[in-house]
Amino acid sequence: MEKLIIEVRINEYASRKYNPNVPFSPEEICDEALRCWRQGAAIIHYHARDPRSGSPSSLSEHYADTAQRIHDKSDLIVMPTLGAWTLPSPEARMSHIIDMAQDRATFPDFAPIDMTTSNVDIYDSGKRRFLTDDVVYMNPTKTLRYFAETIRGAGVRPYVALWNVGSIRLSAAFVEAGLLPQPLYGGIVLSEAGLFAGNPGTVRGMEAMADFIPPELQLRWSVMCVGGNLFPMVGATIERGGHIAIGLGDYPYLELGTPRNADLVERIAQIGHEMGRETATPTETRKILGLL
Ligand code: ZN
Repeated sequence: MEKLIIEVRINEYASRKYNPNVPFSPEEICDEALRCWRQGAAIIHYHARDPRSGSPSSLSEHYADTAQRIHDKSDLIVMPTLGAWTLPSPEARMSHIIDMAQDRATFPDFAPIDMTTSNVDIYDSGKRRFLTDDVVYMNPTKTLRYFAETIRGAGVRPYVALWNVGSIRLSAAFVEAGLLPQPLYGGIVLSEAGLFAGNPGTVRGMEAMADFIPPELQLRWSVMCVGGNLFPMVGATIERGGHIAIGLGDYPYLELGTPRNADLVERIAQIGHEMGRETATPTETRKILGLL
């Protein structure tokens, strides 16, 4: 079986309320990325945040500064986020990727595309109500096509976020239509904490997705759990050849105290080792994912 790729979902839009180790500034994200790299991580996924308040930032300079720092000090594979539904247009969601791709020093190796349109309103089970009644993450085909073409046009590799079985089928159609390359790298998104856009964060939730990956599709896939603990799915994922995408961005992991991202990576690498799958270095990961 191929080596285990560990991707770190280092901050997303997580607060420090539960775990103070969520990095915000470019310097903090880079320092934590390097710690993760030393423990066996190959890919860093990050969201730019205002360095002081931690609120979401869409500024190219924050994205680029982070990538430059990481590239300067490591061979980590860098995947900034694409702007999501909070930004006004597909062009606004893409602009920092295009800016970063102009310069080798800030180059984004991957840019993610969410291959779905979903209801992403959050349910608060304590209050027995939804937060807004109104939030839909819109990604019509023309927007997904625009992302796929623009990302590839900038020389960047697209990554697909697979929220449901329909996302997998849509990605296969995009490959067939020549809009996405193979081998394709994608992440199975399991979701907890009142977000129902993904399957539940369980082994069965993961398997229901992995079972529908068409055998002819050259897809390397990882699993994440937005809003929940990924560890219960790690063994089954490693056993069936999947890769792992974990981090404080998705969940604070208070079961482990207040761990750092690097502590999570260390544990995943250890589980992989015990199961006979050593971690892939960034160079090995580039080969596996067709970046070289
Ligand atoms: Zn993200």
